[in-house]
Amino acid sequence: MAAKIIETKAGEPMTAKIIDGKAIAAEMRAEVAKQVAKLKADHGITPGLAVILVGEDPASEVYVRSKNRMTVEAGMKSVEHRLDESTTEEELLALIAKLNADPEIHGILVQLPLPKHIDEGSVINALDPSKDVDGFHISNVGRLNTGLKSMVPCTPLGCLMMLRDLHGSLAGMDALVIGRSNIVGKPMAALLLNDSATVTVAHARTKDVADLCRRSDIVVVAVGRPGLVKGEWIKPGATVIDVGINRVPAPDLGEGKTRIVGDCEFESCSKVAGAITPVPGGVGPMTIACLLANTLTACCRINGLPEPEGLTA
Ligand code: NAD
Repeated sequence: MAAKIIETKAGEPMTAKIIDGKAIAAEMRAEVAKQVAKLKADHGITPGLAVILVGEDPASEVYVRSKNRMTVEAGMKSVEHRLDESTTEEELLALIAKLNADPEIHGILVQLPLPKHIDEGSVINALDPSKDVDGFHISNVGRLNTGLKSMVPCTPLGCLMMLRDLHGSLAGMDALVIGRSNIVGKPMAALLLNDSATVTVAHARTKDVADLCRRSDIVVVAVGRPGLVKGEWIKPGATVIDVGINRVPAPDLGEGKTRIVGDCEFESCSKVAGAITPVPGGVGPMTIACLLANTLTACCRINGLPEPEGLTA
């Protein structure tokens, strides 16, 4: 994949290259579509993704709609299961058992969060690990952390793809991951370690995050605090990947208006970093592209075919 970087305009004070996640994601989706077409032509197999949505969370609705659209655009089969808020855990587990056994389905995604009466861990661990395209099943977590082939969580995989795109090898680089969630921070740290970076993980109880930041060639921030990371924390020339998605008031756009910002203070960080992802348009688009890539990878593995190159960790 060729590096997709938006060069800054002459005369602008900004020094960082802006990593164009939208363009890298579009290229990745096009590559998935190409390989899906080849899989169909050579083997008569169409990768299938099933998305399960329980209840009516508006944010989840938006995600599920765009996942469905992009799955179809990539030439894959997309199946949506919309279940009522009152669905019991047993009913959900029965649906998962059915999808686990369905030969036309290669990826199953349970949209989180689930209603409170359903135990997320039990549901995720009921998935066939080979169809767990979110990479949250305990078996995939264990495999990733022991350096074995696994399904890799989509958001950290997207970050890794951007870092590899920019740097090629990450071996020997000092990487800091801020945030230790199971869906972003921890798998991100494992991926960087598997790529031979020297990895530090910071979190809410870390004594001096700024100091760790100043010593890092790569900083991945997944916290959920708007503008937490300041430019003065960044080592000159470092690469900053901002995973945060925060909606904040934007009175400059009009009364009651809001905008989406990341966890980094973009203006100050982009004056010091060598490269930085914008929010929006950075990590976000990579997440869905990686979901499609994971579905294709799962389909190839399940059918005993060579897996697509350059689309997984
Ligand atoms: P989370 O709430 O599960 O975890 C946040 C982490 O940040 C915790 O480990 C906590 O210890 C750490 N933290 C909190 N305050 C801190 C501080 N002051 N200094 C250092 N660490 C601190 O969050 P998450 O699910 O990992 O998501 C993080 C952010 O990434 C959110 O804004 C979320 O919306 C966003 N996100 C984006 C995508 C995407 O596709 N772009 C996907 C998932 C999450």
